[in-house]
Amino acid sequence: MQKVECLIVGGGICGRLLQLNLEQRGINTLVYDSPSGNHCTAVAAGLANPLVGKFFTVGWRANEFFPHLASFYANLEKRLSTSFFRPRLLKRIISTAGEQNIWLSKAHQSKYVGFCSFAHEDLVGLNTHFGVLNVLQGGELDTRSFLEGCDSQLNTRKEDIDYTKLDLINKEYNGVTFDKIIFAEGHKLRDNPIWNKYIKVVPTKGELLVIETDLEPHGSIYLGSVFMQHLCDNRWRVGSTYNKNDATLHPTAMMKDDLVTKLEKVLQLPYKVIDHYCGIRPASVDRKPLLGEHPEYKNSYVVNGMGSKAVSMAPVLVDELVDHMYGEGELHESVLLNRF
Ligand SMILES: Cc1cc2nc3c(=O)[nH]c(=O)nc-3n(C[C@H](O)[C@H](O)[C@H](O)COP(=O)(O)OP(=O)(O)OC[C@H]3O[C@@H](n4cnc5c(N)ncnc54)[C@H](O)[C@@H]3O)c2cc1C
Repeated sequence: MQKVECLIVGGGICGRLLQLNLEQRGINTLVYDSPSGNHCTAVAAGLANPLVGKFFTVGWRANEFFPHLASFYANLEKRLSTSFFRPRLLKRIISTAGEQNIWLSKAHQSKYVGFCSFAHEDLVGLNTHFGVLNVLQGGELDTRSFLEGCDSQLNTRKEDIDYTKLDLINKEYNGVTFDKIIFAEGHKLRDNPIWNKYIKVVPTKGELLVIETDLEPHGSIYLGSVFMQHLCDNRWRVGSTYNKNDATLHPTAMMKDDLVTKLEKVLQLPYKVIDHYCGIRPASVDRKPLLGEHPEYKNSYVVNGMGSKAVSMAPVLVDELVDHMYGEGELHESVLLNRF
């Protein structure tokens, strides 16, 4: 019988950040990660953006999530001996007179200091007629490189957990005993009979395009009704769509058209679509994350519901979950499982 202190189900960003956090505290772990199906983290654009939505809202707890984000990922890069996070200037393109008015009515608010500033900028190939907000403290995580680093350096079994073999009373699974178990299964938690009576994960499908165009990257990520993220050479990732309660794993012509229509409002250069793919985000009913202990099974925990912001939120939230698991702190009230 093998013994680990924490067994983690799911090797997406949440499961891996949890594993790295526990490891740093000297707690030994094992991740089970399904080799097939939806790997939302691998599909994600990996953007960290403190300014969200049409109304230039400073995101939930942005003052806590963003100031240490770059140094947090830099430390993980050292641990995993690979490179995956780049701080980036995000350029939020204001696309209509209406949007410009919204921004002007809010620009004086002190909460924007340190996060963004307005500029009239001429970015060749983009429609910047109404101005640009330069958004600070953002960045991009190369999620595939991050996951590859974790797969090669951390204790992992590339297998599905079979719930019928999981004994939460004696804390045993398939020849492994554990003190605590954490489920970080993304939208697949909906198939988990231990949890799906208690929490509702809302699958939210997202589709992305890869295009080729001769736009100059200038080291920035362009944001508008779609984002444009430079990949390499003349390749750009364009995204993304949000389709609630859709967990199908194939991209659709309808969402491609939607992305293309929005892209053409911003991009004024010729382009060619060369790829189109999708993934399923794990969201929640109130769009806040879901973290905590199982109401019946002690020492069984969940981390889920990161929606489209895992890269920026998960580092702090996972740390708070681990503090909570070891009696060293409380979870934020907005993430508690009993709020519904
Ligand atoms: C198109 C798109 C674009 C996105 N862009 C961004 C972005 O720019 N920035 C951002 O922060 N977020 C973005 N996201 C969201 C982000 O990808 C998710 O919030 C994040 O990946 C969720 O991580 P997770 O670890 O909770 O779940 P997942 O990444 O889904 O990981 C769960 C893992 O658990 C495994 N698993 C499930 N059940 C079992 C089982 N029974 N046994 C073993 N393994 C199991 C799965 O195979 C999977 O590997 C995007 C998502 C999509 C779809």
